[in-house]
Formats: sequence, structure tokens, C-alpha cells
Amino acid sequence: MPDHFRFSYRGSKGQARASDRWSAADDASTASLGSALLAIAVFASIFFLPIILPTGMAKAWVHWKSDSGEPLKWDRREIEMEARFGGNEGATCLPRAQGVELYEFGPCWEDVVRSAADQFYRTDAGLRINITSLPAKPRCIIGDGTNTITVGDTYCGYAFDDRSIAIAFNRWNFESGVMRESDVVFNTAVTWNSYSGPGRRLSDDTVLFDMHRVAIHEFGHTWGLDHPDEAGQEVAAIMNSTISNIDRLQPDDIEGIMAIYGSEGRPVGAADPPRAMLQAIAPITAEDQSTIRIRCEDERSDCPVFLDCTDQGSGRAFSGTLPDEVPAAGVSVLSSADLMRITGGTPWDKRLTCKLRSPRSISGQVWTRSGNGVLINNTAIAEPSYSEERYIVRLYSIPAPGGVDESNIRVHCPVAIHSDCDDIAIRCWEDDGTLHEGSLETVERGSVEHFQSQRLVELIDHRWQGMGLSCHLVSSFYITAQILTRTGGNALVNNSEVSMH
Ligand SMILES: [Zn+2]
Repeated sequence: MPDHFRFSYRGSKGQARASDRWSAADDASTASLGSALLAIAVFASIFFLPIILPTGMAKAWVHWKSDSGEPLKWDRREIEMEARFGGNEGATCLPRAQGVELYEFGPCWEDVVRSAADQFYRTDAGLRINITSLPAKPRCIIGDGTNTITVGDTYCGYAFDDRSIAIAFNRWNFESGVMRESDVVFNTAVTWNSYSGPGRRLSDDTVLFDMHRVAIHEFGHTWGLDHPDEAGQEVAAIMNSTISNIDRLQPDDIEGIMAIYGSEGRPVGAADPPRAMLQAIAPITAEDQSTIRIRCEDERSDCPVFLDCTDQGSGRAFSGTLPDEVPAAGVSVLSSADLMRITGGTPWDKRLTCKLRSPRSISGQVWTRSGNGVLINNTAIAEPSYSEERYIVRLYSIPAPGGVDESNIRVHCPVAIHSDCDDIAIRCWEDDGTLHEGSLETVERGSVEHFQSQRLVELIDHRWQGMGLSCHLVSSFYITAQILTRTGGNALVNNSEVSMH
């Protein structure tokens, strides 16, 4: 990959409106564009304080700074951008319409820039760019108040210099340093594709530029990062001013992003740890009907949940945030149609696998009623149980008595214990998190106490609906438990793994 091409070029819109200022990302040669004086005034304040750790490990990220010394940043973690890659109203999926095949991140340019934007979302800062795909705009997109990603061999009448392959323009509030607009233009004078790894060339030796890494770099400017190498640093960073084999955010870039935005108050998202895994969720077109039950294991705080899913058929990603947090100790119930809406409205082909991500402890199950009426638990509870000097056996999704599915609950007091298991507390929650409590009399050592769900109704003095009850059996003894359910199709299903602690 030739290293003499610049990611972007510094220029100036040449106009300060009200208290907003403009920059274009990069380099020191401002003279060819707009008002050089303004540009110099602005950029003189931009290069500041590269941070170098005394160990010699370069921490070289650089960010822009307002006159009052604040980092230039957005006052939110989610911004909208319009992708305008050409074509008319009817044109979808450029470059497929242009007959170009993208090596990776495609099939459309829009997919490429979305994937690049996701790199920032997957940091702990959770920065999100929502990209809408629209036809080309005939007029200048810089300064129109809309964040735009576009292509051209000029931008608003200015020519790219022959080393510039893309440019990012930012506008921000003069005093507060709050970003107002960011636009990215890719130079169509060079040949684009998208791929990871070392730079590629066509058979005639034409350099094939990877739009994915260039977009990551430009979005780095969008969020407020500048070039560490132009501030005298040597560090592996995608924010370096020249394109290289680095094809994704580097630790230094991420540190820069975290220093500007931090993680406090970020929305639940892809950066949260996976707490549970849901398997084999049926598409809406299938004869099988899946019901997803997501439980908030936290008894005091509601649980936000991000669904991070993959279609087992196409490998395509589906993701989205539950519109409402799961109530503390409660359950949110979703159908496949709900899940489709949350993840963007596109149906999946085969079966969906989902990681449930949350800052809190959650668990999840998939229940599928097949065409012939048999109810199957596709997923064991993924969240491990724990004890606080007590053994807690967790029973989920207990079918209410009187329905088509009849349950038998089996509680086992193992022989290895030197006494009977007495004093077993039952704590049950409805899906809205309402607690109902009771207790089970002694289970003799070495025996299994089994009872129907009707008996559970009496024990907790509460009747629930459907599968809307989850219970903990809490004991100072090492007990195990199981639910066996005979379904409408007369098949016997084991709802719960034997919980071991
Ligand atoms: Zn740049």
C-alpha cells in the first residue's frame, strides 16, 4: 500500500457562522482552501498536548480542543448521518448497481460505512452513527446542518489535492466545543473497494483503496480525534495521517475515544458482556412458534438488554435494544415478530442465535411450540446460579395449572446430606417482578418430593398465567430440582436442567 496517500486534507469552509467554527480534518497546508487566515487561527489551537507516558509507550492519541480548552465533542453518543453514494431515488445497493463486487463488508457502500461506524459503537464509549441511505444531493452538503457521507472528485467546489483520498469536515460551537456537524467525502479520483488486511492492487497495478478503514479514520475525526503522527508521535493508530495496513481501531485510538467520551451513561449495547445465549429462534415464516423469555436477575434494578443476533443460515447480523428495560426480577416476553421489529424489521432465513448483552445479570430461554403442538425448551438457562451461604435452585417458566401443559416439580434431597432437607423457602416472581413467597415442608434425606403446579399455587398462595412464573428454591441444604412438563402433544419435556451448586 503506498503510504504517501493521505486520508484526508485540511481545509476550511472559510466561514465562521455565529459561534460555530469549521475545520476540515488535517495537515498543515491550509493555503489552498478557503480562508487561510481563519484556518490558521483554528488549526493553531488544534494541535496540542500529545500525551506520552514516561515508560516510552507512546499514548499518542490527539483530540481537538475548543478555545476554552474542552475537547471538541458531541454532546451525545448517537448521531445521524446520511449516506449519499450516488444514484437516483430507485438506486439501491451501490456498488452492486455499478457492477462492482466488494470483497468484504458489502454488498453496498452503505454496508461498508455502517460496519466502519460500528467499530466505535463496539468500544466502551458506545458511540453510534445511525446511517440512512439516500440518493445523491445536487447541492453542497457541507454546512447544511446535516451530517453527510458522500463521494465526489471535488467537495463543494474545492478540489482534492492529489494525495488526498477522503476528507472529514467538522463544525463546532466556538466556545463550548460542542460538535454541530460532520461531513465525510470520499475522493472518486481513486479506485475503491472494501477489505481487511494488506493493501491490494488490480492486475493493472491500480491501487485499490479500502473504504472501510478510511471510513473508520474519517469517523474518528467525526467523533473528535486528530492525527497523532502529525503531533510528533509514532504509534500504531488508524488515526495516523497516512493510510497503511492498519485496518481497524487500535488500542491508542480507543483510548483517545474513551478519554473524550468515557463510558458513563452510555446506552446498553454491543460493548456490554453477553449474559445469556438464545439458540434456534424460529423465523416468523416458520410453522414453529418461538417465545423468548428474558429475565432480569437483579431484584432491585431494571435490566436494559441489547440483542446481538446472527442468522444461522446467512450469517447476517441482527441487533437492537429492547425498547423497555426488563423489570427487576421480572421477565420480558418476545415473539419472533417482536424480535424482528427490534432488530430492524428484516426477517431472518433459518434460525437466529442471540447473545443477550447487559450490564446486569440476566437469563434467557427460548420456548418453541412445534407444528404438532409439542412445546420444547430450546435453551437451557445460561446465567450460572450462585449462592450467598444458601443454595439457590432456579426454576424458570413454570406452566400454570389448568393449561394444556401440565408440570410436575421434583425436589431432591440427596443422600449425601446427613439430615433431612427442611426449611426450603420458595420465592416466586411473576413476569412483572411481583414477588410471592411460601415454603416447602421437609424433604427427607435421599428422597424426591414431587408435586404438581397446582400445589405450588397453594404454597405461594397465588395463581399465575401461562408460563409467567419463575421461582427460587432457597435452602441451607444442597438440594436439586427439576420441572417436567407434559405438553399438549402428550410429549414430556424437561423444563429445567438439574441445578447444581
Ligand atoms: Zn485524517
